[in-house]
Amino acid sequence: MSLSNALTTAAPDLSSRSIAYFSMEIALSPALPTYSGGLGMLAGDTLRSAADTCRPMVAISLVHRRGYFRQNLDDQGQQTEVDVPWSPETMLPSANRIVTLTVQGRELLVRAWRFDVTGVTGHIIPVFLLDTDVEGNDEWDRHLTDHLYGGDTYYRLCQEAVLGLGGVAMLQALGCKPSVYHMNEGHAALLSIGLLEEHLSGNPLREAQEIDLEAVRCQCVFTTHTPVPAGHDQFGLDHMYQVLGHERASAIERADCLHNGLMNMTYIALRFSRYVNGVAMQHGKVSQLMFPDYKVHSITNGVHAATWVSKPFQELLDAEISNWRTDNQYFRSVYGIDPARISACHVKGKQRLFDVVAKRTGQHFNPSVLTLGFARRVATYKRASLLLEDPARLVAIAEKIGGLQILYAGKAHPADAAGKGLIRDVFAAAAHLNSNALKILYLENYDWELGGLLTQGVDVWVNTPRRPYEASGTSGMKAALNGVPSLSVLDGWWIEGCAENVTGWAIDDAETEAAEAACLYDKLEQRIAPMYANPAAWARMQQHCIAINGTFFNTHRMVMQYFRNAYFPTTVVSEAATPTSPVKAPALDALLSEPTLA
Ligand SMILES: *Cc1c(COP(=O)(O)O)cnc(C)c1O
Repeated sequence: MSLSNALTTAAPDLSSRSIAYFSMEIALSPALPTYSGGLGMLAGDTLRSAADTCRPMVAISLVHRRGYFRQNLDDQGQQTEVDVPWSPETMLPSANRIVTLTVQGRELLVRAWRFDVTGVTGHIIPVFLLDTDVEGNDEWDRHLTDHLYGGDTYYRLCQEAVLGLGGVAMLQALGCKPSVYHMNEGHAALLSIGLLEEHLSGNPLREAQEIDLEAVRCQCVFTTHTPVPAGHDQFGLDHMYQVLGHERASAIERADCLHNGLMNMTYIALRFSRYVNGVAMQHGKVSQLMFPDYKVHSITNGVHAATWVSKPFQELLDAEISNWRTDNQYFRSVYGIDPARISACHVKGKQRLFDVVAKRTGQHFNPSVLTLGFARRVATYKRASLLLEDPARLVAIAEKIGGLQILYAGKAHPADAAGKGLIRDVFAAAAHLNSNALKILYLENYDWELGGLLTQGVDVWVNTPRRPYEASGTSGMKAALNGVPSLSVLDGWWIEGCAENVTGWAIDDAETEAAEAACLYDKLEQRIAPMYANPAAWARMQQHCIAINGTFFNTHRMVMQYFRNAYFPTTVVSEAATPTSPVKAPALDALLSEPTLA
């Protein structure tokens, strides 16, 4: 992906873009610090697939001038953070528009930078990164779009006002008239208030009737991403009134969007969306229980295959399966490729990972030894230490099976003291356990690049969340696309992706952590190690991972499902025959702009 290209290309035509995708974070390029983890990666992969499959989308996010942070770890595993400043003006073309919002009772100027996500056939999804560092703004306001997930709740609410209200205003200023607004997580929920203001065309919000709210609802789609309560932003009413002003704040109250006496972004999004979904089948069901007053559907996440498949695999696929880049269904035909060639590609990925590890840390890993990977945002429910629950047993297994290597990575949020403690725990265990047979290493600064190296290079991807908190998880999908099986708790996507002994192994549910760890060790010793010792069987498993899971857990399929079920549902298409149907417009758009359904 070339950033310099973006400076020279003309803006794509926006008038035909029917879907506006709003996300607080989007991973656009390994060189840009505009994401923190899974949510941003998913947003970026969504847009990359939308570009490859020529979808009529446009996206909105914030510029995050100081980025998320770079993680440094000292030799005890103590995390410190450094900003990652970048200057959009030297890298991206300007949208050449400034919109004015009233936020915190004063005028706020918002401009935007355009990042073009370019698909394999040249189709572009323009992404507008909103920026409040504009001359004329209050000095404090100029830093509102600096820090992704930084600052306090007041700062966060201001940012969410910029994203939702600023995004709607910017699209209007650009002449873009989407028929569907997709809130990727509740952060973007205030776009509904922006749309309501637009719908009332100058009349005050207090005059909004149910029919006006319904008109906004018909335009909105909401994806919720976690059952963990901390993932659902809420704000005090004092902040709501202070930041949004009386007119908007009282409209939110009147529309029944408060929850437990607080402004809750998830409930605003639920109230204003005609379609709501979770990000895997089980997560949809769990979310349905959390929000019984709303219908919650499921669309399982995916990853952008061409972004995550290693170079050697890409070359193999290009040689054997033309069209896989535009149509991921072709991954199924990996069954026509000799498994030994698949293994050979994986060996290269493993060597590349170990070369980078050696260069970064001076530690040498052995490419012929079974290697496990565990990399994820550090949060208590992800239970990074389950693998280390019974150190004596782990060492015994390592000795018995001819060695074992474990690579860890993951960032804790700067304000999460408990999470930082978990990283130190892994360091302490590693220092204690490292021996000839067992090697454990925690790698610094888990990001796009390291995520790619790990999922392309380890032999088995491990995931041990406490059920049912893993909404989906996507790193295991990246691994699967590279022929890497998972050893995981049956949570999130793995409920759909696990075929025991074929695409990986399930860690069975148990009453205690010790019992779950015992299951993990049993599988490692009795199923995984013996198969790893049989290269033909292992190669066959690698092939299954790609052919079975690669074919499904990709964002080409996911985007197709959003178009079919959320943006332009088939039922809406049939209702469009009735002239009075309020959902007529998107339905017509569906017929005009949904090429793959034809
Ligand atoms: C894919 C990815 C994630 C999300 O992975 P999970 O399985 O949801 O933990 C997070 N961070 C990075 C850097 C990634 O590449």
